[in-house]
Amino acid sequence: MLAFALTWNLMNDNAPPMASKPPLNADPEELRKFGDLAHRWWDKTGEFAPLHAINPLRLDWIAERATLKGARVLDVGCGGGILTESMAARGADVTGIDLSEKPLSVASLHGLESGVKVRYEKIAAEDIAAREPGSFDIVTCMEMLEHVPDPAAVVQACATLVKPGGQVIFSTINRNPKAYLFAVIGAEYLLRLLPRGTHDYQRFITPSELTRHTRIAGLSMTAMMGLHFNPLTRRYWLAPNVDVNYMIATVRDAG
Ligand code: SAH
Repeated sequence: MLAFALTWNLMNDNAPPMASKPPLNADPEELRKFGDLAHRWWDKTGEFAPLHAINPLRLDWIAERATLKGARVLDVGCGGGILTESMAARGADVTGIDLSEKPLSVASLHGLESGVKVRYEKIAAEDIAAREPGSFDIVTCMEMLEHVPDPAAVVQACATLVKPGGQVIFSTINRNPKAYLFAVIGAEYLLRLLPRGTHDYQRFITPSELTRHTRIAGLSMTAMMGLHFNPLTRRYWLAPNVDVNYMIATVRDAG
């Protein structure tokens, strides 16, 4: 049957393509960018300094709404494992996934050095969702959605992965002139906090877009919070304004 279908497809230029896996929801250029910088991931003064600086803030925000100790946690787009390890250090049983190979190697090596146990795997959110639906108490997906072609599909995968009643936490960057000024011009060009080209403005996601994706996926929003940075004092803090960088906490509807 397969051989017949193959022959038929080869013979008929206009034949419909055979059913195949949908293309990977990833931008190879984005994955390469993070791969090229992977060796710098744990340098707190390097390109990933902002992630190190915001980590205690976002970790506490997550811990305020979800019990990390003893929870099964999945960190989607974990990169070099900054948040991943910190959640494991608070007693969670954490798996980190990403599609960029080198950050995952760096994350594994760092885990060996620090002694904090985390499982890392190179797999797409959609694929692990098909393999392990409803099996995590908490799913985190931070600073990742703005790097993927179809963020709604990742949101849906996160919703599939969490148990009913479980928490899914996202963070991303809003899309408006102020966000462009702060997250692209300010961070990449003026302050050089991030390498140029880290962010593509077109991929930024407004809170209403993100909450539409979560609603469609069966996730109800429970909280929203902005992440702020003062370039003069170099201080980061949380405040309700979500004009630029922000997080949302959601819970999967029961049943
Ligand atoms: N979540 C981490 C890292 C953010 S950097 C943190 O906040 O500390 C963005 C990460 O998303 C990178 O590691 C990049 O490789 C990953 N990424 C980009 N596109 C992805 C995709 N389609 N699937 C999985 N991970 C992806």
